[in-house]
Amino acid sequence: MRYHKIPDETIRRLPIYLRGLLFSAEQGQESISSRNLADFLGINSWQIRKDFSYFGDFGTPGVGYDIKKLIKQINKILKLRVVRRAALVGVGNLGLAILAYPGFRIYGFDIAAAFDINPKKIGRKIENITIEDVSNLRTLKKRQINLAIITVPQDAAQQTADALVKAGVKGILNFSPHHITVPGKVKVITIDIAMDLARLPYYMPAG
Ligand code: ATP
Repeated sequence: MRYHKIPDETIRRLPIYLRGLLFSAEQGQESISSRNLADFLGINSWQIRKDFSYFGDFGTPGVGYDIKKLIKQINKILKLRVVRRAALVGVGNLGLAILAYPGFRIYGFDIAAAFDINPKKIGRKIENITIEDVSNLRTLKKRQINLAIITVPQDAAQQTADALVKAGVKGILNFSPHHITVPGKVKVITIDIAMDLARLPYYMPAG
């Protein structure tokens, strides 16, 4: 089946839906109404119906959405059906926390390699992964790793991105606040926690 162009905003919500649906499936449920999914995820039920309608799933009145079918569809749209091997570069405090985080697995991500420039860290084993020298980044293609997480300091972000692109990486999750430039065929998503925090007070009541 071909999907119409799905808006980015909907794509953003698909991983949230997937998490809710996987949880419901784990509880033994076979179907779910948009209202129940809405209550569980804190998203409007009309929004959910609209998002699902982009890929042609309107659910069955009185029964709801077929959970298994939706999980399959969302996995297909997000191209999550294969296990994606990722590399992490920069095993400082943030990198360590990310390596220890178990939440990537439900989406099929496996952090398979970690790299650092600090000789004191290279060779250390964290969560079953031995930290390698950054010069080993060139081996990524051979190891079928085409996704990377950058947790190096700001001033090392661009050079790290350049090395990753050279190594064949096609997707980068960038945790450094530095804007990085990559060729058009590579997708970068930057997560800047401080920036998100900086817009929070605007929404808070005064006093
Ligand atoms: P620590 O003090 O243990 O290094 P940190 O979180 O304060 O932790 P940062 O200065 O944020 O460290 O750096 C994060 C990690 O990135 C460190 O482990 C550092 O050695 C590593 N790093 C710095 N530059 C590079 C680089 N060019 N390539 C790969 N790793 C790098």
